[in-house]
Amino acid sequence: MSTLETEPITLTERREVSHPCAQSGPSTLSVHGGRQPNPYHSLCEPIVQTATYTFIDTEDLCYFKDQSLWGEVPDRYEYARYGNPTIRSVERRLATLEAAEEAVLFSSGMAAITTTLLTLLPTGTHLVITEDAYRQTRQFCTQFLKRLGITCTVVPIGDYSALEEAIRPETRLIFSETPTNPYLRVVDLERLAEIAHRHGLITVIDTTLASPLNLRPLEWGIDLVVHSATKYLAGHNDLLAGVVAGKAECIAPVRENLGMMGATADPHNAAWLLRGLKTLGVRIERHNHNGQAVAEFLERHPAVECVWYPGLPSHPDHAVAARQMRGFGGMVSFTVKGDLDATSRFVDALTIPQIATSFGGAETLVSQPAVMSYYELSSEERQALGIRDNLVRLALGIEDVADLIADLEQALGVLKNNG
Ligand SMILES: *Cc1c(COP(=O)(O)O)cnc(C)c1O
Repeated sequence: MSTLETEPITLTERREVSHPCAQSGPSTLSVHGGRQPNPYHSLCEPIVQTATYTFIDTEDLCYFKDQSLWGEVPDRYEYARYGNPTIRSVERRLATLEAAEEAVLFSSGMAAITTTLLTLLPTGTHLVITEDAYRQTRQFCTQFLKRLGITCTVVPIGDYSALEEAIRPETRLIFSETPTNPYLRVVDLERLAEIAHRHGLITVIDTTLASPLNLRPLEWGIDLVVHSATKYLAGHNDLLAGVVAGKAECIAPVRENLGMMGATADPHNAAWLLRGLKTLGVRIERHNHNGQAVAEFLERHPAVECVWYPGLPSHPDHAVAARQMRGFGGMVSFTVKGDLDATSRFVDALTIPQIATSFGGAETLVSQPAVMSYYELSSEERQALGIRDNLVRLALGIEDVADLIADLEQALGVLKNNG
């Protein structure tokens, strides 16, 4: 016999490990939240790259099946579409960060949103969403769900009587985003939750733009929170993932449907996400700092028409944001004094920000929504959606803010020269 066969790896007995408690700060939780021992005692989570799992014998298999039947989330798995230990580690961490009982990871933010809504909305029901929502979410709610006999009413953000008036006997759910994109509107979550609960409705909030460092919707009475983990959570513009977190009883059927619909995350992406999460606290601090400084600079600049940033007292939702959020984030939208083409010339004159959609990574990204996201629409159609030709969306990264401001200053000079 070889030494390898005579000396099998002996796994130490499972012991309770000390967890950072739920009262720990968000940076502590993003580093340690939900930590559990693994068989190798490795500090970093092992990447379990497998499509399926083995059982020692039939008794072992039956024990696993019983555990599932008792409704426990087993600490082992049958097949990778139903679960994976690397992915489970991310889910535990994100659940603690959101102060949620449970979380499920998906292959993208849209997978999290669509699977959650398909799970919670039976045929014949109705949902209310707020306008200025992520474009694909709005299309899914107003067009795709209609094919399944699920109807949708879109109400203006900040109009709580319109929200309440839109509720019908068949309404099941209110979906909203905060802050929104591109106008950074902030929803009063306490007010929204109060209306929803009075009518027995489930509330789902997409808070991708805030991250759990700046806002935790469950603390304000919201039932479920969804994120595109592609953005701030992963933080490096190098992977796609999504998450939904909330009460265990709401999450269980979503997890079951994920196992059927199959928008499962990938264990390598999960490991990268865990790595990104460790720096979430310091990254968000910098995004918040850069966002505030750039918004204040732009608001003072003569070539800038209007600035939307919840940290500015001039923003329509500043008071709600100041009460509800720990920081105002790294996204700033503004209109410049110029038409569609002049705005494009300003964007092209920037040297540090890269022209790209998305946000939440280290790099500052810039986009002119009229060109980037709404290119195929006419100017009138864009106006109807509130997308102005001279609107610029700046997703601030973590560069030195003095460099970003100097770059904006020189690029805004292009507008002055062209009247
Ligand atoms: C990016 C984004 C999504 C979609 O997430 P993906 O990971 O790209 O699928 C949903 N909602 C918001 C607010 C987003 O910014």
